[in-house]
Amino acid sequence: PGAPNTAPGGSPSSHDSMLRRLTVLSGPSGVGKSTVVAEIRRAHPEVWLSVSVTTRPPRPGETHGVQYYFVDDAGFDRLVAEGELLEWAEFAGNRYGTPRRPVVERLAAGRPVLLEIDLQGARQVRRAMPEAMLVFLAPPSWEELVRRLVGRGTEPADVIERRLAAARVELAAEKEFDVTLVNTSVQDVCHELLTLMAVRQ
Ligand code: 5GP
Repeated sequence: PGAPNTAPGGSPSSHDSMLRRLTVLSGPSGVGKSTVVAEIRRAHPEVWLSVSVTTRPPRPGETHGVQYYFVDDAGFDRLVAEGELLEWAEFAGNRYGTPRRPVVERLAAGRPVLLEIDLQGARQVRRAMPEAMLVFLAPPSWEELVRRLVGRGTEPADVIERRLAAARVELAAEKEFDVTLVNTSVQDVCHELLTLMAVRQ
């Protein structure tokens, strides 16, 4: 994405090429981001997946330290105050954030890093690290997105309403992203995403 980046003197800047290994996957709630991420976790352990901190309670099957670090409000406040989060946002009544240090460490070690975060978070990463690649995961259609959000059956009606309202806003932001991938099949999206990240398959 964007023009090739060269440091003064014409040699590629290692700082920029390092940051280019940072990929952000965003898109409306229910579009299938976490399914894509789970498949990459299974098949491509060389891709480092950031584990976010959240104040949301765990869903059945979620494990502390795997999908999220589950913290209370005071714990989240502390991380914000200490500057430990690369970005954070409030989403549908809960807060979510990316711990900064592990991301910076993996990038410094040359590993491809993937963040699965919401639109507000993607915008913060864009500002903080302009070389990051922002990927938008789009549903095949609005009807399909509603079907997936309702069909997940993990959220009460009022939460689904809030997530649909957020999804409407998020869908309108697609043009801010470097690339759009349409989630027709998990395998196809993973393949396309890994290709964009220059990960061998
Ligand atoms: P869920 O509750 O369904 O796991 O996640 C709700 C939304 O929060 C999703 O859009 C997800 O991408 C986003 N999210 C998860 N972790 C983070 C994070 O660290 N930062 C931000 N900004 N959003 C996140």
